[in-house]
Amino acid sequence: MTDHVALCSLCAQKGKTCCVETDIFVTMGDVRRILDFTKNPDFYEFRGCTTEAYKDQSDDPQWDRLVFRPDGTRRVVKRDSSGRCLFLSTTGCILPLEVRPLICRLHPHLYNAQGLYPDLAPECPVHLLPPGTRPEQLIQGFCQEEARHWHHLLYQEIMESTTTRKAGDLNFRP
Ligand code: SF4
Ligand code: SF4
Repeated sequence: MTDHVALCSLCAQKGKTCCVETDIFVTMGDVRRILDFTKNPDFYEFRGCTTEAYKDQSDDPQWDRLVFRPDGTRRVVKRDSSGRCLFLSTTGCILPLEVRPLICRLHPHLYNAQGLYPDLAPECPVHLLPPGTRPEQLIQGFCQEEARHWHHLLYQEIMESTTTRKAGDLNFRP
């Protein structure tokens, strides 16, 4: 997210970005891709929601049912003591786009299991874009076609996590 060039730089100058104090859910597919890249399995944990907004998945029952474990936790990227995502460096995300968690790639799109919403996440300050500039010019991965592909993959991989859960091991680790 934060290496998505100009808009993200402007956003960062205004304060914390979407890579700080955010709960980044990772699918098992994300875990495998990140592990292949970093060779370090110690990047995720099971954690409850940081904010009430994350708990409210009333528009996405599938997410609510499949992502959360019975104790209210879900698999998320670890953060450092200041709330910054473990993969955030001074120059942005250290993960290449094709390795980055799917929800990071989809940001700032909003969506549920059925598809992408027309509106963008309100915290992404697209109003800072220079006049006449479209978000897809300044946010990597913003292209609708790519986003639809990632959205499909995200829900496919969420289903995979459920299969694992149904196998009876809530503490499954790759
Ligand atoms: S909120 Fe939007 S502009 Fe800000 S860092 Fe994230 S993707 Fe970039
Ligand atoms: S994985 Fe990368 S893009 Fe996602 S929150 Fe962390 S630093 Fe930001």
